[in-house]
Amino acid sequence: MFTEVLMPSDDAIREAAALIRAGQLVAFPTETVYGLGANALDPEAVARIFAAKNRPGDNPLIAHISDVSQLRPLIDCEPGPVARRMMDAFWPGPLTMIFPRAKLVPANLSAGLDTVSVRLPSHPVARALISAAGVPIAAPSANRSGRPSPTSAAHVFEDMKGRIPLILDGGDCAVGLESTVVDMTCDVPRILRPGGITAEMIAEVAGGSEVDPAVMRPLQEGEQPRSPGMKYRHYAPRGELTIVEGDPANVAEAISEMYDCALADGHHPLILALDGHLAAYGGRRAESLGGDEAEMAHRIFALLRDADALGADVLFSEAVEARGLGLAVMNRLGRAAAFHILKV
Ligand code: AMP
Ligand code: MG
Repeated sequence: MFTEVLMPSDDAIREAAALIRAGQLVAFPTETVYGLGANALDPEAVARIFAAKNRPGDNPLIAHISDVSQLRPLIDCEPGPVARRMMDAFWPGPLTMIFPRAKLVPANLSAGLDTVSVRLPSHPVARALISAAGVPIAAPSANRSGRPSPTSAAHVFEDMKGRIPLILDGGDCAVGLESTVVDMTCDVPRILRPGGITAEMIAEVAGGSEVDPAVMRPLQEGEQPRSPGMKYRHYAPRGELTIVEGDPANVAEAISEMYDCALADGHHPLILALDGHLAAYGGRRAESLGGDEAEMAHRIFALLRDADALGADVLFSEAVEARGLGLAVMNRLGRAAAFHILKV
């Protein structure tokens, strides 16, 4: 299949909307990462997403809408007062909410669960496409399963060329991490995947929030996660990643020592370090994570892809505190490392 890449002109959006209505797949930019879109109400179109990504069938997809009025038909209840306050505060934006699923929603979208996840994105191209298609759009990240999420059209092309007919190129994504996923079927909103809308921001609007314990640790043997996506080793670079946590001077010393050992053993090591710490690694090969959590969120997936392109087979990364946006960054980095975190 030939994969066309188009700037998101009115014509291109019309073409994309026609493909969506015809049951085909289109990759498009959102403020979080690029999405791989299909008509969320068409089970065959939804099945095409799972096939193109090679995504396990038990990992549900998020339905994207362009107006709050499109929510009610997808869910099996009236949204409660807390959900309404969260919509007012964070939609459009990087927040996904989980509700009981209406019959209208195909079972394969939700991987057979009786719930459905919905988000109203803020990116103008995403909203224009959903409006033009006239249907909610199912859209997971437009990477092949197991690869870092794509934050540019070039990343999407790398993973999806020959598998989908069209990519809308809207430039780099602003947030760079996938949406915050919150289960609204619990008494207190429960964060299943941290993202740009932080636990602290949600608690302020909702009067409380909980973070699912599986966010910052590997699953236990036989554990059934509330968010099926947590079962899988997402965001993986090809090299083996170790996160080193502790006092910055100790971290730099430990990473330098491991780097030198890896080099002596014939490996191609790479260090991921915060701007202010780069000098501590002397002439060793290091890439900048940025200066703070927001820059890390923006760069992390591109960095993991770059590490692959540089042929790094062993990676060492510094850590940040798992609070605020730092929780989302450490969740992604932790999963990329299969939670191999060394405390020094
Ligand atoms: P992605 O589509 O790649 O952004 O991933 C979507 C994430 O949301 C995955 O981790 C899913 O497990 C999670 N998710 C989507 N729908 C549901 C749902 N109904 N219940 C629990 N988790 C969900
Ligand atoms: Mg994904």
